Amino acid sequence: MADMNKDVLVIGAGGVASVTLHKMAMNRDLFPGRIAVASRTLSKCEAIAESVKARTGQVIETYQIDADDVGATVALIETVKPALLVNLALPYQDLALMEACLRTGVHYLDTANYEPPEEAKFEYSHQWKLHERFEKAGLMATLGVGFDPGVTSIFAAYVRKHYLSGIRLIDILDCNGGDHGHPFATNFNPEINIREVTAEVKHWENGGWVTSPAMSTMVEFDFDQVGPKNMYLMYHEELESLVTHFPEIERARFWMTFGDAYIQHVTVLQNVGMTGIEPVEYEGHQIIPLQFLKAVLPNPGDLGERTKGKTNIGDIITGPAKDGSGEKTYYINNICDHEECFREVGSQAVSYTTGVPAMIGAALMLDGTWSGAGVFNTEQLDPDRFMEMLNAHGLPWKITELSAPVDF
Ligand code: NDP
Repeated sequence: MADMNKDVLVIGAGGVASVTLHKMAMNRDLFPGRIAVASRTLSKCEAIAESVKARTGQVIETYQIDADDVGATVALIETVKPALLVNLALPYQDLALMEACLRTGVHYLDTANYEPPEEAKFEYSHQWKLHERFEKAGLMATLGVGFDPGVTSIFAAYVRKHYLSGIRLIDILDCNGGDHGHPFATNFNPEINIREVTAEVKHWENGGWVTSPAMSTMVEFDFDQVGPKNMYLMYHEELESLVTHFPEIERARFWMTFGDAYIQHVTVLQNVGMTGIEPVEYEGHQIIPLQFLKAVLPNPGDLGERTKGKTNIGDIITGPAKDGSGEKTYYINNICDHEECFREVGSQAVSYTTGVPAMIGAALMLDGTWSGAGVFNTEQLDPDRFMEMLNAHGLPWKITELSAPVDF
């Protein structure tokens, strides 16, 4: 995709989009063309544009769009004429935005897989079905370019390229050691977050999915620079793409840390029906409990100012060493400080660790480092330049050899 047009159109103006747009504006060498943002609420686009102007002196264009409306997005794309559309709205918009890209000949990138609004089911099938259409159109769609999914899969590809000849075991460990001072709040979109944590757990073992109830498997793990935390087995979308693209994987699991207060709140909310996604009748209105809950919870975008502490996210991977020296285990991870992120771009680390990879992925698609026709997940693409850019753009990582595979 190393053509002349370097213009980008970002859809969505939430916490993640704000980070990506600030980072794009700070790296004009990577984004020399127009930078535009369009979202449902124009004032949110304008607020980001003002902050970007104040911090970097760069101008970004703002537009209003309902991204569920394919015709409206096609018209917007015809006005902005971007080379690449970066979807940082919600997973519900993925298919409509991919359709608009196909109709207008524009490349596509997102950070979360499509989810039908009426069922909390995370799977790539909906987007993978579009592979042939993207391939025929000579367009590239790169899916899940956040931290997890995104960096965690690129970490796996990197270890597999340079250290191991295959992956036997992979555990993805997502720790947020941040404290925002609220009794209960989610670090990214509450609706998506709560749908994720209340979903049935699945992990991959010996060629099939093993299911267990939400939050039923807990392990304590001592995270570097954070300390011991309880982490819970969860289903997460990159498990599906990793076991598809690296079919040698025997076991793939995803773990996320939650404090006791978070678990208590989610349990109570679930028990009283507030996390439901079926509409209920209330005083003549149909309301979806989870969407109402989102409306009363703190806005994740406003947590930055008060969040202290660090995130520590990475993979522990076991497999045969490339040099034939037997089985080896590596831990590859990034540690990110909430307050440093806030100082740099005005957002907390959960938005930062998602928005920076989206910026890097967009840059690699624009300069042709990542190219191809079809629909791709990040582990299918060459990891090396992306890994260098993580170090250069605020998400440094380190890799350590462990003495044995994980024993939990
Ligand atoms: P927010 O809720 O903060 O932002 C979402 C934005 O999308 C809002 O500006 C919202 O508009 C806009 N939007 C929603 N519906 C539409 C629509 N129909 N048309 C136009 N705009 C719309 O979410 P986050 O920034 O926290 O998350 C953004 C994405 O990143 C999500 O898909 C999330 O799942 C993903 N994510 C991925 C992670 C990863 O590591 N891979 C981690 C964290 C998040 P409005 O303001 O009007 O509501």
